[in-house]
Amino acid sequence: MKKYHINDSKKLLKAFKTNKTEIFSNKLIQFLYEDLTTVSEHIKQTTKFKIACGKGCGYCCNTRVEILEPEAIFIYNYMKNTLNSEQLDSIFSKIKEITTITSQIDKNQHVKLQLPCIFLNNNECSIYEIRPFICREYHSVDLNSCLRHYVNLEENAGALEANKIKDSYYRIILQYRELYLNNNLEFSPSEFLSSLLKIHEDKEYIKKYFGKI
Ligand code: SF4
Repeated sequence: MKKYHINDSKKLLKAFKTNKTEIFSNKLIQFLYEDLTTVSEHIKQTTKFKIACGKGCGYCCNTRVEILEPEAIFIYNYMKNTLNSEQLDSIFSKIKEITTITSQIDKNQHVKLQLPCIFLNNNECSIYEIRPFICREYHSVDLNSCLRHYVNLEENAGALEANKIKDSYYRIILQYRELYLNNNLEFSPSEFLSSLLKIHEDKEYIKKYFGKI
């Protein structure tokens, strides 16, 4: 069976304490995502349910997404490393347009708008390998039910409610959370696009997050 990075939590905590940087945090988020993938693979092999989620299905990507602070830094870093300055300007001008609207409404109204995620291209996630925790957590067992929910938000989506998956995911993320909290670093969720915009617009944001200024 594949090894979980978080099993080395003591080692990771020690290393994080002496190396409280963006680079180390990005490595931890990468480890978190790899551990979640390991859990998912295990669940797919052992659950009696058939996981229906797959490539090209983006019903659950038309909603309000929340992201943890270090995840936002990780994804922002990825964008900076993979997009040129023109592409970056273009995506952030779209993000600004959207957040101008969403910052004036509440969470429920935002959900009801059913805005497609900025990273959804032809119904595929363009950052699938590094998608946030909240996107990974969702597992459906019935795509028709997801479609019905997409058409009518009052309908229940085909989420897999088996506690096993949620317990496993939360057990892992809580251990990663400890690594951050033990370093006095925030590990709380906020709206995805506004988090990215905050980092983009405040050049000192990342330094401030890691207590460097
Ligand atoms: S980040 Fe990817 S998986 Fe998450 S909502 Fe956006 S398109 Fe969907």
